[in-house]
Amino acid sequence: MTPDIVALDNQYILQTYGRSSFVIERGDGCYLYDTTGQQYLDCVAGIAVNALGYGDPDVTAAISQHAGGLLHLSNLYHNMSGAVLAKTLVESAPWIDRVFFSNSGAEANEGAIKFARRYARDRHGDGKSTVVAFDGSFHGRTMGAVAITAREKYRAPFAPVMPDVRFGDYNDIDQLESLISADVCAVVIEPVQGEGGLRVASLDYLQKIRALCDKFDALLIYDEIQCGIGRTGTIWAHPAEAAPDIMTIAKPLGGGLPIGAILMRQKVADTIHAGDHGSTFAGGPFVTAVAQVVFNKINTPEFLQHVQSTSDYLNESLQELMSRHSEITELRGRGLMRGIRMSLPVNDVREAGHNHHLLVATAGDDVIRLVPPLILERHHVDELVQKLDAAISDVKSAR
Ligand SMILES: *Cc1c(COP(=O)(O)O)cnc(C)c1O
Repeated sequence: MTPDIVALDNQYILQTYGRSSFVIERGDGCYLYDTTGQQYLDCVAGIAVNALGYGDPDVTAAISQHAGGLLHLSNLYHNMSGAVLAKTLVESAPWIDRVFFSNSGAEANEGAIKFARRYARDRHGDGKSTVVAFDGSFHGRTMGAVAITAREKYRAPFAPVMPDVRFGDYNDIDQLESLISADVCAVVIEPVQGEGGLRVASLDYLQKIRALCDKFDALLIYDEIQCGIGRTGTIWAHPAEAAPDIMTIAKPLGGGLPIGAILMRQKVADTIHAGDHGSTFAGGPFVTAVAQVVFNKINTPEFLQHVQSTSDYLNESLQELMSRHSEITELRGRGLMRGIRMSLPVNDVREAGHNHHLLVATAGDDVIRLVPPLILERHHVDELVQKLDAAISDVKSAR
């Protein structure tokens, strides 16, 4: 007899997540299946983690190949696949010189903040400790990452969190001069916001931030944990004209296994010394070998071209959907990372989607978030839009 999983969860798991009522049992490509055999089109993808969908043959082969090898080694010893993955990541953009591996997104941001504080102290002494972040930001749940996350409800119950954080208004270019000053050691920004509502930073805005960071020798940190690694149709979401000093990545990198990384310029690496930072599990041989396969598969012109053309089609289809529902007030995002802002309660739309066998996420208070597997095809887009249309219509008629 299969145990009642929902009852076990309710009794034994700390209840921090609002979970769906069905239990997912398996996945295949862009679809998930519950324990009653119902099929769902998955436009959540483990929150932008499962970029290659479910059951990718190359990921499965890599896992099988390395399963009998070294799973963990400790960072006391050289690790062959970690060194090779680091080289691959460095070669993915001209500004990257060094890599530090982590186990998660929050941990990558935590390390990035530490590196920025260390860099500022090394070059300018004490007092240059302020980190600038933005409204609508989400950077993770640890004490440093949560301190630069905008939402009060993620921070206030756990105060005091990391001090010396200043928030600005995302995309408000006129405010930047007063926001970024000599006391700032780092500016942390998502080039495309995830959790906060899928807003896209303009090129002008990022260039202005870059210029002010240069003026005050503050480090520009991009959080591409959700928007990086092919999600926007290019390997990195940020424009080459406004390259950062540090970039954090995680979600899709391990094909579902936990791994993150901090990518940085040599000038940052020069101020970090042996013993300054570390992690027991991070960058182990197994997880980096699998991540290598995932990254190589996404970082090809053909794969990225596929993401671009599917996302163009998705954008056109969403515009058409918008023309049929006045409750859709704005379309946001880029690539296969799209936000649909609406005047309907978005949680109701998400729930109604379940009845039509469609999984979508929300972002902020009023945005439906689509972050499907990057292997999504045009026929999936048609199915997605048709099901979303039905879910929106259900919520409208119930009001
Ligand atoms: C998910 C996310 C994080 C946190 O990553 P975890 O692995 O959950 O710690 C940080 N920043 C962004 C932009 C994210 O989307």
